[in-house]
Amino acid sequence: MTQTDLTEVTCSTCQASCCRLEVFLLTETGVPEHFIATDEWGGRTMLRLDDGWCAALNRNNMDCMIYQKRPLVCREFTTGSYECLIERTRP
Ligand code: SF4
Ligand code: SF4
Repeated sequence: MTQTDLTEVTCSTCQASCCRLEVFLLTETGVPEHFIATDEWGGRTMLRLDDGWCAALNRNNMDCMIYQKRPLVCREFTTGSYECLIERTRP
């Protein structure tokens, strides 16, 4: 067993990698309008800033500033899932 195997996957050892993904707003959860980007076809996603992270991410502590109102996609993204492990490998 390697050291990697012994390391538990938690968000506290991650730089919010999944918060750089495109997050579509599929349901109404109360996300404030200034954190939302709307494309020319009316599709709504979480706004991302020039650094690539979601606008609702607190850059100081890498916590979600709208946790109670976060989109469905964010609620369903599971720590330790295949998608999570893929994102954690990105630089
Ligand atoms: S869910 Fe996974 S990718 Fe997202 S912050 Fe937590 S450990 Fe990182
Ligand atoms: S809404 Fe919160 S959990 Fe979802 S991508 Fe933005 S910062 Fe991350």
